[in-house]
Amino acid sequence: MQTVRRLGDRVVRFALPPRCPGCGVVTLSDHDFCLACWSALDFLDDPQCALCGDPFEIDPGRGALCGACHADPPAIEGMRAAVSYGPIARRIALRLKYGRRPGFAETMARHMRRHLPDPSVALLVPVPLHRWRIWRRGYNQAALVARALAQSTGAPIAIDLLWRRKATPILRAMGPAARRKAVQGVFALRPDADVKGKAIILIDDVYTTGATVNACARVLKRAGAARVSVLCWARVVRDDAVIR
Ligand SMILES: [Zn+2]
Ligand SMILES: [Zn+2]
Repeated sequence: MQTVRRLGDRVVRFALPPRCPGCGVVTLSDHDFCLACWSALDFLDDPQCALCGDPFEIDPGRGALCGACHADPPAIEGMRAAVSYGPIARRIALRLKYGRRPGFAETMARHMRRHLPDPSVALLVPVPLHRWRIWRRGYNQAALVARALAQSTGAPIAIDLLWRRKATPILRAMGPAARRKAVQGVFALRPDADVKGKAIILIDDVYTTGATVNACARVLKRAGAARVSVLCWARVVRDDAVIR
């Protein structure tokens, strides 16, 4: 059986050479970016806001907050994203979401892993999708990314901890108050879920306004979670084009 599977794998590899997830040129191995795409990706790192992960141009020191978090602290206590939401990051997110290409979840997870230095300390929870959307799309892209991360790091995962009571409208065009209102009461915890004292990392593909993850974090905090942070593939950074 093992031999058959290995043979099958080789046949598939022969038929489909590894391609750059960004532009499709043939590369040496699966999930590898070509040099042009690699150079065009903006990998995010410190310095950034301790709560929402907004990148700082000058390092203000550990634990510093951005102006928005100072004025109105979010429910999340930390946010990391592999890359900023530029054209290549966007293409990969869209192909996973609408292009029925689940392999892109593994590409994302490979670059998100470095922000998970000790995978054993927190529970991975994907941001839930409304059941109609799952039915139409066939899967929740955030759950695929969370599963790929859990598989490669050994981190504990709870796919169905949160659920979405109703589908939300597109939030990007709304102001902060309208966004908060639109996600109020949208997320709920499974009745048998116990998150008391737990550290939770919400997993999503793209972080745009933070309204969705903050709504999830409020539900988890109310149920006693000790800490809720976020790990995403891509984050919209100030002037990035927001097209979802
Ligand atoms: Zn490329
Ligand atoms: Zn901030």
